[in-house]
Amino acid sequence: MSKKLKSASVLNKFMADYYYELDEASKTKSKKIAWCTSTGPAELLRALGFLVYFPETHSAMIGASKTAADFIPKANAIGYSPDICSYLTSDIGAYLAGVTPLEKAYKTIKSPPAPDILVYNTNQCRDVQDWFCWYGRHYNVPAIGINTYNCVTDVTKSHIPSIALQIQDLVKPLEKVSGKKLDIDFLKQVISLSVKCSELWETILNSAATIPSPISFFDSVTLMGAAVVGRGTEETNICYEKFVEELNQKVENKEGRIPNEKYRIYWDGMPVWGRLRSHSELFKSLKVCIVASTYCNSWIFKDFDVNKPFESMAKAYTSLFIARSEDYKEQYIKDMTKFFKADGIIYHDAKTCPNNSNCRYGMPQRIEKDTGLPYITINGDLNDLRLVSDEQTKTKVEAFAEQLEEKLAG
Ligand code: SF4
Repeated sequence: MSKKLKSASVLNKFMADYYYELDEASKTKSKKIAWCTSTGPAELLRALGFLVYFPETHSAMIGASKTAADFIPKANAIGYSPDICSYLTSDIGAYLAGVTPLEKAYKTIKSPPAPDILVYNTNQCRDVQDWFCWYGRHYNVPAIGINTYNCVTDVTKSHIPSIALQIQDLVKPLEKVSGKKLDIDFLKQVISLSVKCSELWETILNSAATIPSPISFFDSVTLMGAAVVGRGTEETNICYEKFVEELNQKVENKEGRIPNEKYRIYWDGMPVWGRLRSHSELFKSLKVCIVASTYCNSWIFKDFDVNKPFESMAKAYTSLFIARSEDYKEQYIKDMTKFFKADGIIYHDAKTCPNNSNCRYGMPQRIEKDTGLPYITINGDLNDLRLVSDEQTKTKVEAFAEQLEEKLAG
């Protein structure tokens, strides 16, 4: 993979501190721990004094360590299908095997932190509910959550109150476990930190609109870790400020992430975690910069409002790309490709995540017809490398680069 950004050391320290703090609390029972889905109500949990752990990030680490196929069969053996989310199956499988990638990364951490409560939001998919309920039964702790609308075109006033009420309904059971009363002023403070986090994260991602782009998708999928696990904290914002500074400098110096950037591609869908390095190298060799993605942009939340904490959390977490209709998504991708000056689109059709795969209902064809942007679809998966064909991916990507060359040559 290309040389890391200088500020990566700040992110590494942030992630290490985050996991060590959770591990300490889990071992000593000094603080309560809530597990939360990646687009769950993290702000509410922090405001109630919980340390917040996100199993999806743990699953991504399993994927990146290329070990998911060792663990998925263990979850299959207890009835979780090989066709469902491979984040779920590799995480539960690794737990059953007593293995965690945290140990390799952080030595003294031998297992994920034990939850006192688990809180999900089905805005992204139903799998998170099943995933959290498995751990709830296993640890004999409550697994509670929010059931969000999906396939929404416009998020209207008719959607918000019911979700806001569901979030409010979480307060009592959370207070019972945390032993603390919700302090609304503190919740507002946490939300304002989340607002800042989203602004900084957007600034980082938008730097890729510059030609040449100072950042690529393969940086962003790692950098987004802080927005996922740390939104609502000062530390995350300090970390992102460093990246903004570094990227501004690169923009000023016209320093591209890919030497001699030739083509700019928009990536739709999840990364193949176990192929980050090889995909990064492949695109670099073709002078292709993956400038933006639907996936990384999903942690920019525009609707938080400190004056309406519950309503705005409801709006922010219902307006998520993944919860929207094909019409909304199509327009969003068109806008994004225009903003980032993309020459084409790659759709990752992730076998075990239909929710994050947007090429199954004719969208690539419709977008190409309207915008003229060429596309390819890569069949693969986020974690299960048995579903990935490296040869086929390479052949398709190389042919795509040739197609772009011909197109740009006019
Ligand atoms: S959105 Fe996809 S990858 Fe994420 S938890 Fe749901 S099924 Fe798994």
